[in-house]
Amino acid sequence: MTARVIPIVNRAVPGALPRIPRGAVAPDGRLADARGRRLHDLRISITDRCNFRCTYCMPKSVFDKDYPYLPHAELLSFEEITRTARIFAAHGVEKLRLTGGEPLLRKNVEDLIAMLAGLKTRAGEPMDLTLTTNGSLLARKARALRQAGLRRVTVSLDSLDDTVFRAMNDVDFPVRSVLDGIAAAQAEGLTPVKINMVVKKGVNDHHVVRMARHFKGSGHIVRFIEFMDVGSSNGWRMDDVVPSAEIIRRIHAEMPLIEHDPNYTGEVAERWRYADGTGEIGVISSVTQAFCSTCTRARLSTEGKLFTCLFADAGHDLRALLRAGHSDDEVAAAIGLIWSERTDRYSEIRTAASAAARKIEMSYIGG
Ligand code: SAM
Ligand code: SF4
Ligand code: SF4
Repeated sequence: MTARVIPIVNRAVPGALPRIPRGAVAPDGRLADARGRRLHDLRISITDRCNFRCTYCMPKSVFDKDYPYLPHAELLSFEEITRTARIFAAHGVEKLRLTGGEPLLRKNVEDLIAMLAGLKTRAGEPMDLTLTTNGSLLARKARALRQAGLRRVTVSLDSLDDTVFRAMNDVDFPVRSVLDGIAAAQAEGLTPVKINMVVKKGVNDHHVVRMARHFKGSGHIVRFIEFMDVGSSNGWRMDDVVPSAEIIRRIHAEMPLIEHDPNYTGEVAERWRYADGTGEIGVISSVTQAFCSTCTRARLSTEGKLFTCLFADAGHDLRALLRAGHSDDEVAAAIGLIWSERTDRYSEIRTAASAAARKIEMSYIGG
């Protein structure tokens, strides 16, 4: 499915570009949306392609050889991505995450990282620059990524059982290579490494405790993610979701846990630490405990559409502004208006009907 595109216009003055309503900007210059939520994170999808076919994300039946991936000219260039990220930084963004698709498939991704690593937050600090990857190319690329200025990585790994993992990625990719990637990331100091496990009932939920035990004491942080109804092609059903509370209960029964404070307001993962001091885990409960009220994330799609919610079906066409020669101030005003009008809270009001509705695919908008 291609995204519906929302053209960026000034409704008050046709033909003119938007202005940010004065009330949307806090005294410290940062933006807040219509529900008072700050703009803190920008997730940037740098490719809609992937070398895996995870059954919950890019099932083979839909993402086959005839799937209409974006042609290269449609993608934001590295210069366009960096310029957009700089404008977001001026609006208060402090964290950038590259994602996709599989971000390490984008040619010369190190060059983009080097460009983004030069950006500063409003406070003049370096950006928190990170990346989510399936780990398949990490062993090969960790050093170059670090040298380019990447700070941390999140690696997706759904099971330590090779048979289950190969079936979930559906391209017969072995666990061993992802573990090698995690080890390379650790050796290069891309730490703490976070490990994302999407939990699907009856598929890999019986491996939750094993996953926690394997990484306990390693310094890595495993985050268990509830299977979500993103996109329109993964056949999501509520019955396939294992609530995070159940995951915590199972791990706690073997390895006692204590709830931990968030690192910052709007952090998606609920943090738990092991009572014996050997590290922490997280749970991301988008389905059973929606966190929309503190959602501070904007998403930039591979072709430069700005999405204000993971579950949106339409994005705002920033690329059109960038390519029409508008100034940074004009693009900043457009972003400001979009964020100031944001009311999204999909997960809080999810219904069976909304879960079944057509939404944009996660591989395009970025996880
Ligand atoms: N290819 C990279 C990877 O897999 O890490 C980055 C993109 S992927 C879309 C980002 C994250 O979204 C991954 O951790 C993936 O497991 C998660 N994800 C994808 N589909 C999901 C779904 N239906 N429910 C929950 N998480 C999902
Ligand atoms: Fe690819 Fe990541 Fe989606 Fe798996 S979750 S298909 S690795 S984009
Ligand atoms: Fe944020 Fe949308 Fe997810 Fe709610 S449903 S937490 S608004 S991305």
